[in-house]
Amino acid sequence: MKALLYGGPGQKTWTEKADPVIEKPTDAVVRITHTTICGTDLHILKGDVPAVTPGRVLGHEGVGVVEQVGSAVRNFKKGDRVLISCITSCGSCPNCKRQMYSHCDDGGWILGHLIDGTQAELVRTPHADNSLYPIPAGSDEEALVMLSDILPTGFEIGVLNGQVGPGDVVAIVGAGPIGMAALLTAQFYSPARIIMVDLDANRLEVAKKFGATDTVCASGNQAVEQIKAMTGGLGVDVAIEAVGIPATFDVCQNILAPGARLANVGVHGKSVDLHMENLWIQNVTISTGLVNTNTTPMLLKTVQSGKVDPTRLITHRFPLNQIEEAYRVFSNAAQEKTLKVILSS
Ligand SMILES: [Zn+2]
Ligand SMILES: [Zn+2]
Repeated sequence: MKALLYGGPGQKTWTEKADPVIEKPTDAVVRITHTTICGTDLHILKGDVPAVTPGRVLGHEGVGVVEQVGSAVRNFKKGDRVLISCITSCGSCPNCKRQMYSHCDDGGWILGHLIDGTQAELVRTPHADNSLYPIPAGSDEEALVMLSDILPTGFEIGVLNGQVGPGDVVAIVGAGPIGMAALLTAQFYSPARIIMVDLDANRLEVAKKFGATDTVCASGNQAVEQIKAMTGGLGVDVAIEAVGIPATFDVCQNILAPGARLANVGVHGKSVDLHMENLWIQNVTISTGLVNTNTTPMLLKTVQSGKVDPTRLITHRFPLNQIEEAYRVFSNAAQEKTLKVILSS
């Protein structure tokens, strides 16, 4: 098969690699029909995730057709169309038993990280019964690629952890794909206002079309002051951090109204200054997390019913064998006006 191999920091190639095979009876091998690139893949390419070793196939999102299943797989058979979750889960370890699939003893985020991933013609998916979802007939498969990672991540770690409720004022700092996923799914709960914060004016325009009521094109103290002014000096009920750098976390901790929730979604590579000297008296809650994907079946229904349309996040499409060009476009997001790219075989 052909696959995108990580070659060490800054290096990747679309090249020949041996086809994956069933290694355990609970495995499936899936032929990829659509996949995408994640901000996390760019972190890996920068060398920020040293657990990823040269020769690894990247990618943890995608949909495809089951090619082969192990003898213990009960829910899927050859020819079934499936959504691949970015989180692999055995379903029976103590963490899986409490729906914390992200910390499965024999899974979690392993695809395109500790085992070969989905940016390939074929992928081996361990614990197939728990880690794959059947695709209902007639579904828009491109839309479902957004359910592998970004929609559940924005929803579970941003919206649910942030306890977005009716009438709330929500600020989402970062209008990339994850921030947009939080924007789309926050609307399930009818917040009064959603303030989108970014430095990219184009992304903020897109955010307005997706339901943002207000936008702030600023960073640091300027962003804090504008949000305070918009909220009559009160601040917000929920701040969702969707970037993962100290500056954006700092904006979030400085715009919280008493009783507010700060939901961190961003992947941080550096420590942040946590201003407990201001926060301790404010009755605020700070949450963090890696997606569990336990909301994937529910999100599938909202996509099926048209309540949410994640295809709006797709800005570029490429054939799978042009993945290197897709990486170039994805990593030049501001110039290319990129949110999510879709690669199809
Ligand atoms: Zn991802
Ligand atoms: Zn488990």
